[in-house]
Amino acid sequence: MVLANANLADGTRVDVRIAGQRISAVQPADGAALVDTCHLDLDGALLLPGLVDGHLHLDKTLLGLPFQPHPPGEGVAQRIAAEKTLRRDLPLPVEERASKLVRQIASYGTTSIRTHVDIDTEVGLAGLHALLRLREKVRHFLEIQIVAFPQSGVISHPGAADLLDQAIRDGADLVGGLDPAGIDGDIAGQLDTIFAIAELHGVGVDVHLHDPGSLGCFELRQISQRTIAAGLERCVAVSHAFALGEVDEREFERTAEMLARAGVAIMTSAPGPVAMPPVKRLCAAGVTVFGGSDNIRDAWSPYGNGDMLERATLIGYRQGFLADEDLALALNLVTEAPASVLRLDDYALKAGAWADLVAVPVATVPEAVADHPPRMLVMKRGHIIARDGKLL
Ligand SMILES: [Zn+2]
Repeated sequence: MVLANANLADGTRVDVRIAGQRISAVQPADGAALVDTCHLDLDGALLLPGLVDGHLHLDKTLLGLPFQPHPPGEGVAQRIAAEKTLRRDLPLPVEERASKLVRQIASYGTTSIRTHVDIDTEVGLAGLHALLRLREKVRHFLEIQIVAFPQSGVISHPGAADLLDQAIRDGADLVGGLDPAGIDGDIAGQLDTIFAIAELHGVGVDVHLHDPGSLGCFELRQISQRTIAAGLERCVAVSHAFALGEVDEREFERTAEMLARAGVAIMTSAPGPVAMPPVKRLCAAGVTVFGGSDNIRDAWSPYGNGDMLERATLIGYRQGFLADEDLALALNLVTEAPASVLRLDDYALKAGAWADLVAVPVATVPEAVADHPPRMLVMKRGHIIARDGKLL
């Protein structure tokens, strides 16, 4: 089929030909495609590669249930405890809630994701197994990468390390971590444990890091050192890393230089009102920064919908992005950057790449980020999976 009269990010008007699951040609639009029997006229809509969500929690979402009350509360440890209480009596299983969420995010044009799944001695590997089943069922419209996430800690939660190891054996793609200082009170203990599992199985690492200031930056440098020692360059990410927005110039530069050298990527969801990793300064230092939804309608947050163009808007807004080139960077955080972190193969809008595409009814990238308009068309592997915001 041909997607005719599409606008590309560089402003050119093209016809995009699709053969099977891949893009077969991207040619200047000359009207010829309009007489093709199998064409779709995009009439100047902006065509982008499929959006990529680098961090969310499919197992935590409460979608499908009536809106849940959110008690006031501060701090990661208190939130973890509140979530455990809520989780015990949920009337909808993980697979059904997560199934609603994957359909919602696909309708927004997300074609690949990295999800974290809680692993602890209470849920065991049940959440992981539910997501592994879901992954097979939705493979035709969404590619899912799974991080085994020790939400209750590693060292401070006896049994967690063995479960993380088993999670990788059972099919999780990466091993997670969580505030080695703030939750475990043992930086070396947690990092040695999760990197040992990663090295043993040859998988990547993705650590949630809320620990602040110099402490958080020290942990980032420790993660970078271990990444290099384990030969895991470009296979490690740290999510949140608020610390990078809290330290002085000297400590920031020193930490960013190590992250860049180790190829450790930084994920931000632009949550407020905490410090945020400075996106442009990190990119200038050679660090890959990417975006993610994080919590979507769960015990942690009543907010979120999984729309990654809206996430680009939020990141750009919080970073004070106003110039066109900055808005283009915001788009990069939800397309190429997470695609590179997830190591998606043949991800691009060019001949030979997978036909994972999303069309939005604006002409330019800055407009798409500023407005995050409704999606006209979503294609996964050459199949149209959503039209006008509705999953087909
Ligand atoms: Zn998270």
